[in-house]
Amino acid sequence: MKEVAAVKAVDGVSVAIREGETLGLVGESGCGKSTLGRAILRLEEPTSGEVLFEGRNILTFDPKQLRALRRQMQIIFQDPFSSLNPRKTVAQIVGEPLLVHGLGNRLERDQRVEELLGVVGLRAEHMRRYPHMFSGGQRQRIGVARALALNPKLVICDEAVSALDVSIQAQVLNLLRDLQDEFGLTYLFISHDLHVVEHVSDRVAVMYLGKVVELAAKAEIYLRPLHPYTQALLSASPMPDPTVKRQRIILKGDVPSPINPPPGCRFHTRCPYAESVCRQSEPELREERDGHFAACHFAGRVGIH
Ligand code: SF4
Repeated sequence: MKEVAAVKAVDGVSVAIREGETLGLVGESGCGKSTLGRAILRLEEPTSGEVLFEGRNILTFDPKQLRALRRQMQIIFQDPFSSLNPRKTVAQIVGEPLLVHGLGNRLERDQRVEELLGVVGLRAEHMRRYPHMFSGGQRQRIGVARALALNPKLVICDEAVSALDVSIQAQVLNLLRDLQDEFGLTYLFISHDLHVVEHVSDRVAVMYLGKVVELAAKAEIYLRPLHPYTQALLSASPMPDPTVKRQRIILKGDVPSPINPPPGCRFHTRCPYAESVCRQSEPELREERDGHFAACHFAGRVGIH
C-alpha cells in the first residue's frame, strides 16, 4: 500500500502512514506525540532524520516547495476556541488558507466557504458570525472546514476531540470518518485517549518518551498487545463493558524526563518485567508478528498476550 508520510529517526521514531488510513498515535501527555505531528508539518524542525511525504524528504524543501506542500497537509488542533481567531468571522477563518495561497477572488472564496460549511454540517448563515457565537462542537466543525479548504491529502488531528463532551466527541469523530470516505483523506490521529483512538484508527502506534514502542493493526494492539507499556496503558483504561474485567498493571515510579531519558529501554524504570539487559541495551522496533511491531527484548513473552 502506498505510503503518504513517513518519519524516520526523529529521535528514533520510525513510522509510516499509509494512504487512506487513520493511524492512531497514543501515549501519555508529554510523550512526544504532538512533536511528531508538528515535525511532519514542519511546524517544528526535527534535529535529525527524515520526514518523507510521498517519498520525498521534506526537511530538504525550500520555502517554495514547502508552501506547495502545506496545501497537502493540514492540522486540526485540540482547542477549537483558542485556535480560531475571535476577531474574525467564520468566512474569514475558513477562507484564510485560500487567501494565503492566492486561490480565487472574494466571491469564489465565499462560495467555497459556504460549500465547506455544508460539508461539516453548518449553514451558510454561519459565515458572518464569530467563533464565540458557537458551541464547542460547532467550533471544531469550523476547524475541520478550515483544514479541508485546500483539499489536503493528510490531516493531522492533534487531540482534536479532547476538549469536547463525550456526546459531541462522537459527532465530530463520525464527521471525520465520513469526510475520510468522501475525500479519501489520510489521518494521523493523535490522542491520549485509548477509546477515542480505538474508535477511529485502522492501525495504532504507541509512544513512550519520544519513541514508538508498539505499532500494529488496531485489533492486534487492543486484543494482543506485546509491549508491557501498551499492556499497562490498556489495563488502566476503563472497559466499555463493565462485566469484562482486565488485570490492572500498576506502573511504579514517575515518568522520566524525555529530555534525559533512561539508558537502554526507556521504559525500564517503570517496567515490571525489566531485567539487566533492559538497562543496558535499547530494544529496536521489530516485527514480532505479521505487521505487528514492538520494541521490547521480551515482546510477547512477558505480561498478558
Ligand atoms: Fe520491559 Fe525490558 Fe521490555 Fe523494556 S525491554 S519493556 S524494560 S521487558
